[in-house]
Amino acid sequence: MNKSYIKCLECGTINYNNDYCSNCDALLDVVLKRKLESEKKIEAKVKQEKEKPPSKVEVFLKNGLENPNSIIRYFFKTIYGIWLFFAVIIGGIIAAVTAAAAG
Ligand SMILES: [Zn+2]
Repeated sequence: MNKSYIKCLECGTINYNNDYCSNCDALLDVVLKRKLESEKKIEAKVKQEKEKPPSKVEVFLKNGLENPNSIIRYFFKTIYGIWLFFAVIIGGIIAAVTAAAAG
């Protein structure tokens, strides 16, 4: 078994073959720590996207999709499809322009 001394980054305590600091319970494995941190960041971003309120256009179109009149529903379905299509394209253009501006 691979035993090692690891210095805690949080409090400086030297720990012998521990995953967590004996003094402050901080995670000692830096690789694992980074991995957990990046996973947390991704999770937070996904959560943020989910909690983001839909735009006014989307709300308007979604209301239209629930219209009791089938002709109006069909009309909104078409518009909604076009809207989603353009939202993806515009999003892509904005991302490309941002990337170009950032160099
Ligand atoms: Zn510690």
